Amino acid sequence: MSQEKQRPEWVPPEGGDEFTTNVMHGVEGGHDGMPGTRSIAHSGQHRYRRRQLSVDDHVQGVLRGDRSILARTITLVESNAPAHIEMAQEVLKQLLPHTGNSIRVGITGVPGVGKSTFIEALGVFLCHQGHRVAVLAVDPSSSVTRGSILGDKTRMEMLVREPNAFIRPSPTGGTLGGVTRKSRETMLVCEAAGFDVVLVETVGVGQSEITVRSMVDFFLLLMLSGAGDELQGIKKGVIELADALLINKADGDNKIRAQAARTEYNRALHYLAPATEGWRTRAYTCSAVSGEGIAEIWDVIKDFRQKTTESGVFQNRRRMQILDWVYTMVEEHLRTRFFNDPRVINIRPQIEQAVIEGKLPATVAAQELLHIVEQHDK
Ligand code: GDP
Repeated sequence: MSQEKQRPEWVPPEGGDEFTTNVMHGVEGGHDGMPGTRSIAHSGQHRYRRRQLSVDDHVQGVLRGDRSILARTITLVESNAPAHIEMAQEVLKQLLPHTGNSIRVGITGVPGVGKSTFIEALGVFLCHQGHRVAVLAVDPSSSVTRGSILGDKTRMEMLVREPNAFIRPSPTGGTLGGVTRKSRETMLVCEAAGFDVVLVETVGVGQSEITVRSMVDFFLLLMLSGAGDELQGIKKGVIELADALLINKADGDNKIRAQAARTEYNRALHYLAPATEGWRTRAYTCSAVSGEGIAEIWDVIKDFRQKTTESGVFQNRRRMQILDWVYTMVEEHLRTRFFNDPRVINIRPQIEQAVIEGKLPATVAAQELLHIVEQHDK
């Protein structure tokens, strides 16, 4: 394991929570699960140290908003080491009564649409309004390529300087399921620490959007104008997940085109099922660079929250999301157990061959494979 993977927490000389940056990096990949005993002398006035925290240290630290402990608790939650998972679950259990008090906003769009720029603009705007903003990312690509489609969050130079903002890059979890578990639990930890707006960024490629939709209250799709046919290249399915479409880069020469695109999208949205019962998804324009339209989209989000809370749709969605999450985890566990079963691994080539050659019907093949696992369970 490289040095980098064991990067110790930075602890200011007098303790406390002064951070030069609000970007909190987590563990990369798996965690070795070893207790932190390293104490590395560091030149200058900073020193590194790692002291084991108890469950209570984590819980109390998060609840009083201690940023250093918040970062370490998220690192614990992101760890794959069995001992850490157990401890993290105990911490989460105790934090649970203090969670849920935020508006959770998912933000998606193709690379280059301006997600980072927009999140920074919205985040700074909200901090200045007195909100506490946590920015999380769900980027399954990072676990495969170790690079990130969502880019480096330290680019949000203005937002990292806001004392009321907390930015957490995407965890690397091996699978989308792993990344999702970590992001969901990180979101809960942030809520317990008093963040009242959680912005979850994901990239407009496939399954991660559905996953983020399943963990947020409001889902925002960032788009660009000027792609000729306005609906070209944009999956109808993604639009159907969105509570608002926001055409970014509505500035300079592009402003007129963005407004025309908005009209066109609004027309198209008439024919699509809304993502949220009782709410009409509409298109808006903004410029993440000039800030025009940022306050308006926040008004839309507030309006959404008020209307859906009054109708009960807000609370009902959250209840369904938690149950969905439970069964998603059950499914994932069963799937992993099945495919990792040595007897299944052993017999799969034979069964697959028989199916391909037409000697074994697919249904019988499935039954035989399941039978192997079920036999073992008895
Ligand atoms: P992401 O890949 O979706 O996170 O996109 P970025 O936030 O990195 O933005 C991609 C590029 O678009 C950058 O060069 C930004 O400066 C630029 N950009 C983002 N928002 C706007 C905007 O509102 N107007 C203009 N003109 N450029 C923008």
